[in-house]
Amino acid sequence: MKSRFLSNMSHEFRTPLSSIRALARLLVERADGELTSEQEKQVLFILKSAEGLAELVDDLLDLAKIEAGKVDIRPIKFDVAELFSALRGMLRPLLAGARVELIFDEPAVPLHMYSDEAKLSQILRNFISNALKFTEAGHVRVSATLQGNLVRFAVEDTGIGIDEAYQQEIFEEFSQVENRLQQRVKGTGLGLPLCRKLAALLGGSVSLRSAPGQGSTFSVTLPLQCEQRHGEAPDLEPEAADGDGLPVLIVEDDRSTLMLYRSFLRNTPFRAVCARSLWEAEQAWAGEKPVAVILDLCLQGEDSWRWLSQAKGSEQRKHVPVLIVSEISDRQKAFSLGADAYFNKPILREELLAQLKAACHLS
Ligand code: ADP
Repeated sequence: MKSRFLSNMSHEFRTPLSSIRALARLLVERADGELTSEQEKQVLFILKSAEGLAELVDDLLDLAKIEAGKVDIRPIKFDVAELFSALRGMLRPLLAGARVELIFDEPAVPLHMYSDEAKLSQILRNFISNALKFTEAGHVRVSATLQGNLVRFAVEDTGIGIDEAYQQEIFEEFSQVENRLQQRVKGTGLGLPLCRKLAALLGGSVSLRSAPGQGSTFSVTLPLQCEQRHGEAPDLEPEAADGDGLPVLIVEDDRSTLMLYRSFLRNTPFRAVCARSLWEAEQAWAGEKPVAVILDLCLQGEDSWRWLSQAKGSEQRKHVPVLIVSEISDRQKAFSLGADAYFNKPILREELLAQLKAACHLS
């Protein structure tokens, strides 16, 4: 019931919220004609409220999912310097017009981690956006240092700081500190509790050092190599029923969608080889010789576009048809990078099989 509630809630809330936001944006951009200045103010208010609500729903869902044990850890190998440059790009819009400099320190030694990059990125984005909210002038500095087999990420700011009395409390849900900037900034008081829970999921912890008037340093310390957690659902075992058909590599991070594809391929000339990340896909491709690939474009925190164009640029792989099944509509980009077919989710069994057979020249 809990998981049904969560998935309904995410669908029932997020979808209408995103259409409210998209429509409000259209109005503000005058796509449907001029607005009076009073109307513009009202539409901007609708937009801001919808954005606040969407943020609240996202955070609540994330927290509830963690509590229900529904969050999977998806470790991948990644380079911290690359993560920093992605974050720099993502957070640039928050800096517009600010008198604050956002600095990413290049790690002193190359840092290659094996952890859930998307979750680490979520924690750091939260720290950095808080730091930017509560710093009027000066800088926000992001760094990473290797300490034995741990990596400590620190986000240091020259902002208003936090009184010691509140330094524990702000990691509790819905707590905010009364200060002169609080009224001006958006927020729900759920970001830091979420960071704490995410860090614990990754086998690490968060900490804070701060002094009022001098600034704050929020840190997250994680193992260089994240261990698979106990109690996590086991990865998909090969099923006897997958049989010995032609291997089709399915790259999809959602467990239930993988199950669905696998059932689509049962009793057909094909057999599912499942990968939940690009890293797993690489391992699987090395082990099996897939006759086709089904690729999800929204793998968490991973660049499936780049992977697609690499596969299509490789002499050994380019002949293998790649079918994209995705939630994002970017058909043209997919084809220009070499995809052989493109579908929006959800895809029907007949559609998928027909396409696979055509791609593999089976009648
Ligand atoms: P939100 O930012 O949505 O209010 P958080 O849980 O992320 O929720 O933060 C809780 C509160 O902690 C903030 O509202 C703010 O009062 C305080 N806080 C967080 N980061 C900083 C910071 N870098 N400097 C000063 N205060 C901060």
